[in-house]
Amino acid sequence: MNGYRLSETEFERLTIAIDGPAVSGKSSVGKAFASRIGYRFLDTGLMYRAATWNAVQSGVDVNNSGAVSVAAEQMQFSVVDDNHGGNSIIVNGEDVTAQLHSTQVDDSVSAVAAVGRVREIMVAEQRRLAGEGGIVMVGRDIGTVVIPDAPLKIYLTATARTRAIRRHRDFLAEGNEVELEDILRSMERRDLMDSSRDDSPLRPADDARVVDTDDLSFDQVVDHLTELAKEIL
Ligand code: C5P
Repeated sequence: MNGYRLSETEFERLTIAIDGPAVSGKSSVGKAFASRIGYRFLDTGLMYRAATWNAVQSGVDVNNSGAVSVAAEQMQFSVVDDNHGGNSIIVNGEDVTAQLHSTQVDDSVSAVAAVGRVREIMVAEQRRLAGEGGIVMVGRDIGTVVIPDAPLKIYLTATARTRAIRRHRDFLAEGNEVELEDILRSMERRDLMDSSRDDSPLRPADDARVVDTDDLSFDQVVDHLTELAKEIL
């Protein structure tokens, strides 16, 4: 029994899309939510981050879309479960997950993710991983491009300042001294690039449920998503 009115098989085949701007909590909330409803979880941002990390490591100019495309085509990568409900990424045989949230990757990822060939490679792999369903996928274009037929599409958002304050708090907790204004600037730059690119720009799907998390705690957001899931499951 899955606790919902659908049969076990129908329940297991659904896909849920979560999109939203940088630092909107998609990854942490999405992971907790997926675990709550017994779904697999895929953080697609890690895939673009891996392509960026790989390009930088190979000395590729991230603004040269031809060279970025070739680097992505040659990259051997796989996304695996990290045994804590999240994902790890193996690139050319090495687990690079811990290196994917550096400021260098943050600053270059939007340029790499705007390259059409990179998106083709990543979206094909995302659809393959979505497989038979039973998965929560988070990113920027999940509801609009990757799985537009998903029965539940969520767009998670909060004001830029709230998001920057949350990230700043995380950095301080990890012992990293970073200026709040620097976080805000880098985040807003990434949002602008992600939402103004030609290929699969960040935007809510027409039928997305927009969840504004400004005044909600982490647990309240997870509870709210679970309620939305109950409406469709
Ligand atoms: O979600 P996260 O912040 O880790 O994503 C990193 C970057 O990857 C985004 O800023 C965006 O440029 C790109 N991305 C994307 N499409 C997705 C997921 C992430 O373009 N589905």
